[in-house]
Amino acid sequence: MAVKCFSLYLILAAVVLGGVSSEYIEYNTKPRIVPEKINVHLVPHSHDDVGWLKTVDQYYVGSNNSIRGACVQNVLDSVIASLLDDENRKFIYVEMVRFSVFERWWRQQSKAKKVKVKKLVDSGQLEFINGGMCMHDEATPHYIDMIDQTTLGHQFIKSEFGQVPRVGWQIDPFGHSAVQAYLLGAEFGFDSLFFARIDYQDRAKRLREKTLEVIWQGSKSLGSSSQIFTGVFPRHYDPPDGFTFEINDVSAPVQDDPLLFDYNVQERVNDFVAAALAQVNVTRTNHIMWLMGTDFRYQYAYSWFRQMDKFIHYVNKDGRLNVLYSTPSIYTDAKYAANESWPLKTDDFFPYADKPNAYWTGYFTSRPAFKKYVRDLSGYYLAARQLEFLRGRNSSGPTTDMLADALAIAQHHDAVSGTQRQHVAADYALRLSMGYLQAEKLVASSLSFLSAAKSSTEGKNPGTKFQQCPLLNISYCPPSEARLPSGKSLVVVVYNSLGWKREEVVRVPVSSENVIVKDASGKEVVSQLLPLSDITLRIRNEYVKAYLGRSPRNTAKHVLAFTASVPPLGFSSYVISDTGRTSRGPSASDVTSGSMNQNVEVGQGNLKLFYSEEGLKMTRYLSTRNQVTAEQSYAYYIGSNGTDKDPQASGAYVFRPDGVLPIKSQGEAQLTVVRGPLFDEVHQDFNSWISQITRVYKGKNHAEVEFTVGPIPADDGISKEVITKLTTTMKTNGTFYTDSNGRDFIKRIRDFRTDWDLQVYQPVSGNYYPINLGIYMQDKTSELSVLVDRAVGGSSLENGQIELMLHRRMQHDDIRGVGEILNETVCLPEGCKGLTIRGKFYVQIDKPGDGAKWRRTFGQEIYSPLLLAFTEQEGDSWINSHQTTFSAFEPSYSLPKNVALLTLQELENGKVLLRLAHLFEVGEDSEYSVMAKVELKKLFHNKKISQVKETSLSGNQEKAEMEKRRLIWKVEGSAGEEVKRGGAIDAEKLVVELVPMEIRTFLIKFDDHIEMVGDREQQQFAYVLK
Ligand SMILES: [Zn+2]
Repeated sequence: MAVKCFSLYLILAAVVLGGVSSEYIEYNTKPRIVPEKINVHLVPHSHDDVGWLKTVDQYYVGSNNSIRGACVQNVLDSVIASLLDDENRKFIYVEMVRFSVFERWWRQQSKAKKVKVKKLVDSGQLEFINGGMCMHDEATPHYIDMIDQTTLGHQFIKSEFGQVPRVGWQIDPFGHSAVQAYLLGAEFGFDSLFFARIDYQDRAKRLREKTLEVIWQGSKSLGSSSQIFTGVFPRHYDPPDGFTFEINDVSAPVQDDPLLFDYNVQERVNDFVAAALAQVNVTRTNHIMWLMGTDFRYQYAYSWFRQMDKFIHYVNKDGRLNVLYSTPSIYTDAKYAANESWPLKTDDFFPYADKPNAYWTGYFTSRPAFKKYVRDLSGYYLAARQLEFLRGRNSSGPTTDMLADALAIAQHHDAVSGTQRQHVAADYALRLSMGYLQAEKLVASSLSFLSAAKSSTEGKNPGTKFQQCPLLNISYCPPSEARLPSGKSLVVVVYNSLGWKREEVVRVPVSSENVIVKDASGKEVVSQLLPLSDITLRIRNEYVKAYLGRSPRNTAKHVLAFTASVPPLGFSSYVISDTGRTSRGPSASDVTSGSMNQNVEVGQGNLKLFYSEEGLKMTRYLSTRNQVTAEQSYAYYIGSNGTDKDPQASGAYVFRPDGVLPIKSQGEAQLTVVRGPLFDEVHQDFNSWISQITRVYKGKNHAEVEFTVGPIPADDGISKEVITKLTTTMKTNGTFYTDSNGRDFIKRIRDFRTDWDLQVYQPVSGNYYPINLGIYMQDKTSELSVLVDRAVGGSSLENGQIELMLHRRMQHDDIRGVGEILNETVCLPEGCKGLTIRGKFYVQIDKPGDGAKWRRTFGQEIYSPLLLAFTEQEGDSWINSHQTTFSAFEPSYSLPKNVALLTLQELENGKVLLRLAHLFEVGEDSEYSVMAKVELKKLFHNKKISQVKETSLSGNQEKAEMEKRRLIWKVEGSAGEEVKRGGAIDAEKLVVELVPMEIRTFLIKFDDHIEMVGDREQQQFAYVLK
């Protein structure tokens, strides 16, 4: 029986296969571009999130695989082996991350392996694109963070591989910002930018009109001088259906062994040609790109490359198409060579919706505490790097490196976006706090060094041990709260990281009510003592316990406020002492509290606050005839639970409201009015989980609103998305303005998109935009601006109205993969409850056209708050023996108000990275939207500058070289007027010119800096000034 069957099979095989035998096939994977054919560029890639469902480390080593089988180490090991097997294969890699992903993998390789990998990079088989530490989000990060995290990656690529990335690769972020296009693209010297996610209606139109590929001018001010070729993928960032080849993927492999069943070469070739032709129909030129990979693929790279080898071989043999291994750089060059004119794109790609009821605008606000933590540390990192430079970088001492790394991965599109799982959010926060502790030590030692520099006593001073208070936002500060023993006083050193002088109110909690403040010359300065609100005491006690594991040792009862006056890039010192007298001094505030039974008016200048039973009204008197009143209120959206016809719920990403409920004061609103010499403030409790303090400062025209929201009740099973609204009678005609990553403002028109005819299905969430700096609206008589302290979502849903979403607590997952409900809690011994959020927003009303001055300059002060450091002294011992005021600039020099110092950092090689930014857009302000000048000699007045070279934004190439290499694309119609940039720097004068919105980056060498070994850049840049 057995023998019979065997011979029958042999006969059948011989009949079917016509005598063909199976043997080695040499696949021809060599092909290059064939200009006259349709070229299919196969781009092998893996999308390796720097944390999402698992932490960045868990993804790297492949642990916690019950959540998801993903191991980045496998990806890199197997890809490198596959590339070494065939010199025609290519791969791109994106995420550098110092302590995980590529850089970690690289450090773990043998010398021999490194030599091989370097060859792969040199030959272009392995190409780094994007090249930041992560693929940052584009809605919620600040532009300085985006620059910093990309710079870290670019520096690594430059120093290890001598390479400069050419392509932006933001394939996954949920919408795309104008700042990404011009600043994080063109200013890095990128030739192109690619991504997947744009609004589904926009994509449908672009597919029809073949306008997925455009020239994007992201900046009104810089126009065509900062534009980039941008490609939106026709679908997602994965291959066409049927061409995904990880081990467990279901696509049919090419079966070309004639001795086996399922031989399917012609069938698969036909499938390939059909999928390619479908894409040709929606793409200009005869080049199309296939994204061969997706999330965490290539863990077994052979399974992909084996199939691609075969497709290249057989489809090219078929002859209808030309298929090749490629990269986005090769693809970009092919597009450029086609000499085509491309449509022009301006503004941005927000908001993003993938379906009619699915606007990804909830994540603009998701995890507001984490967003604030990231923003706070971003400003702190900027100041810490300055102090590191002013002291001199010490590689063995504490540095800012750890904070730099933690901040870098926190910009990932599932980090600061708030769209990761809870344990991953905790991992990001832990990294940030560890980085902070290092930087805190550095800041303390730098201030100690700078303050000890008084010439007569230098060398005799033991280092001052400074303490700092990262929890000042909940009025927790052990050094200022401590009871001072008799004869002792508290020294507060106040550091200003901005390039101009500041006078600002500083607030610290104190235990005694008999305190006075003196400046370093012994002169008493005006101060004000305020009560700590009950709500502040509650969250202070609860959160210190929950996060530090102990109760506050002291019982601070008051807040002491005084005005600090601080020189640019420098510090001043103040002394707080206990007078021991029990009488209330002139600094005490006048406090009245009780229920609201009569109208209360607060404010002595042009801005007045009126409280009545209806709530808060802010009135700004712009002139005797022109006054504008804004009414403030709270409400919450009921997040959809997705049980109607469309199962789309509101969740971590998606905002889908199902009605809105105003929050009315419960019973009689409780008000506490505090009036004092520096500012007046009103404490208001709206209900048991929303309260706020509104402040009006003497001599300032804005209101500062400090809100405390939470725990949001969840017992009723309703998702709540809490907003605050400002309502005026302004006639704003559906128009408002929101910033792009804290930089340019973009005009928004309600229910309208510039690029297509918008079908409105979600009139609320479809009009939400990300806000990092602020939102404003104008009419003929006034302009109302709101500035924020972190990334939030916001909109203007009715004329004359602005709203911000402050906090969200959800009950459903929104089915976008995170698979966990966004429900943040804080846990105390007695149990867990919803997270409370505290933050600030600022409101100012100006005459039309006057608002920019405040938004830009005060915006810098929000981003870079004064940094406080504390130490105790006996008598006046510290003050008498230390340098109590300091500025790094030449005396009396300060930066113009339209220029910010974005980066001042000593690099490992001893060079100094300097970035200067013009803060205003073209036409934004009559006084400040003009060319600005900065005198480098006055900026570094105690140092001798020996070399200044201008570089790309990430400092990885000389600016002139970058401009020489830049591709000049043709645009359909007019590309706009040529923008003139700031001129070349005269070697003698060393003056930097900046046109509106221009950022210029320099590497500076000083004579007094010790040259470090292995300084490669030394040989690469010839531009030496002296
Ligand atoms: Zn991703």
